[in-house]
Amino acid sequence: MCFKIITVSTNKLLSNHELEYKKKKKSLSAFLKKFDEKTVPGINGLVDEASNAAWKEVECLSCANCCKVMTPTFTKEDLKRISKHFRMSEKDFSSKWLETDKDNGDKVNRIQPCQFLNLKDNKCSIYDIRPEDCAKFPHFKRKPFGGFNHIHTQNIEYCPATLKFITYLQEKIESEFEW
Ligand code: SF4
Ligand code: SF4
Repeated sequence: MCFKIITVSTNKLLSNHELEYKKKKKSLSAFLKKFDEKTVPGINGLVDEASNAAWKEVECLSCANCCKVMTPTFTKEDLKRISKHFRMSEKDFSSKWLETDKDNGDKVNRIQPCQFLNLKDNKCSIYDIRPEDCAKFPHFKRKPFGGFNHIHTQNIEYCPATLKFITYLQEKIESEFEW
């Protein structure tokens, strides 16, 4: 997912997240940057632990911030599947909802919040056929962990679960390893 920043009304979870992010931004970014050079033994097990800890604290249906301020990238398969669902041609679907990212040529949403987000209950109206990028977000378990440190560094700003996930990893790794 990439970012298109818009102003949205925030709930308590997101207000708290914003404060926590401001407090921890530098330290978490520096921690993640070190994965450019280093890794730790058993990182995949630690990632599993951190992921479980984060999801105990954050409920996506109280948040939906990724669907509000970011846009998924639509692959060719996504476009085919989702336009078919709406009985639209891929061309018509693209003209109605998508644009091409000038930086990398990706097909992305034209508007935020995402047109498929139900703002009343924070549910995705095309959940079963949503873009692969949405299904994989926030990418906690992509391997190798260090190959996705730049993604997590971006996501800690917008995703409360990612902030918890990286905070857990930082505390664990800095207390148990020379880092
Ligand atoms: S993945 Fe992150 S940003 Fe998206 S709804 Fe869940 S906690 Fe919020
Ligand atoms: S398609 Fe669904 S999951 Fe993906 S950004 Fe839109 S509302 Fe969120």
